[in-house]
Amino acid sequence: MRVLRSVSLLVCACLIAGALLSCASPSGKEPQEPKTQAKSYYEYFDTVSTVLSYAGDSADTFYANCDAVSEILQEYHRLLDIYYEHTGINNLKTVNRNAGVAPVKVDRKLIDFLLYAKEIYALTNGATNIAMGSVLKLWHDAREKGIDDPQHAYLPSDSDLAEAAKHTDINSLVIDEAAGTVFLTDPLMRLDVGAIGKGYATERAAELLIARGVSAYVLNIGGNIRAIGAKTSGRGWSTGITNPDKTAGKEFVCTVEIKDTSLVTSGDYERYFVVGGVRYHHIIDPKTNQPAAYFSSVSVQTKDGGLADALSTALFCMSYEEGLALINGIGGVEVVWVGKDGTVKLTNGITRPEG
Ligand code: AMP
Ligand code: MG
Repeated sequence: MRVLRSVSLLVCACLIAGALLSCASPSGKEPQEPKTQAKSYYEYFDTVSTVLSYAGDSADTFYANCDAVSEILQEYHRLLDIYYEHTGINNLKTVNRNAGVAPVKVDRKLIDFLLYAKEIYALTNGATNIAMGSVLKLWHDAREKGIDDPQHAYLPSDSDLAEAAKHTDINSLVIDEAAGTVFLTDPLMRLDVGAIGKGYATERAAELLIARGVSAYVLNIGGNIRAIGAKTSGRGWSTGITNPDKTAGKEFVCTVEIKDTSLVTSGDYERYFVVGGVRYHHIIDPKTNQPAAYFSSVSVQTKDGGLADALSTALFCMSYEEGLALINGIGGVEVVWVGKDGTVKLTNGITRPEG
């Protein structure tokens, strides 16, 4: 448990839904690994982003790689922001503001992201739907107010939710690739990309690092983990799946070993508010317009960090059987489901650390 101890502490502190752990070798002897380097950023996606190098590269090389990651995260942070506009660009806030008004000229990167979000909608049968912004806003506002002033916590009314749900048709998101524009044809529709934005941006950062010839790096973007390559020993990184039950006295439900892959968790235990003693979390089932009631957490391991993020939200909004059918149809996707009663189900391909 010697190697990476200080780094794992640093990373654990920042994680939302998982933790990189130190990893003992089966023999108890650690293979000689280069010194770990880590750099964190606090300004993107309202979370902590950490770049970790296990490659033994020079400080200059490491910081140049960090700068490249930071630049791309900043770019996506600005493009995908639904709360603020940023000087010199049209972003999702601009697109939302122009719903029913006019097409908005946007960067090609935003077009590609929105095309991907549409693919995800189709792939998940609408379970992950970025066009649900009007419904999600009702929950978001209730949550913010309920956290600020618990005495007056309230739930969005069924009638408000039903009305908002009329304005969530993904086909009202019209993308004109030739003109480079995006238009929400429904004036009351809003985009909310919280379910996939961070994972998509993480994958773009990983792509950039790979193009720079990087291996043995780990990106941890607010708990979305993307491992690039493996450690010098060929082993992966041991990663804890957080126990949603904070009273259980057990921090992780299990650990998985990841190399050259992503691991993303959606859970009910981090962002929630309480009304009448009942917890209401932030992942909304489009079938009911209520917080999804199937699991406490769902973790997805697959190579692409954008897909892992999109699927973790989608699988959180469907039964185990539906989820299994979905991932079997995709391939290359491993899952850990943690039920409301603490039951843990894993797919067969999940790699557990040896020893
Ligand atoms: P995640 O933690 O990746 O599962 O994403 C949760 C966030 O995605 C929420 O905070 C909302 O902004 C948004 N969201 C919640 N439910 C859905 C859904 N069914 N489809 C799309 N976005 C959602
Ligand atoms: Mg997600």
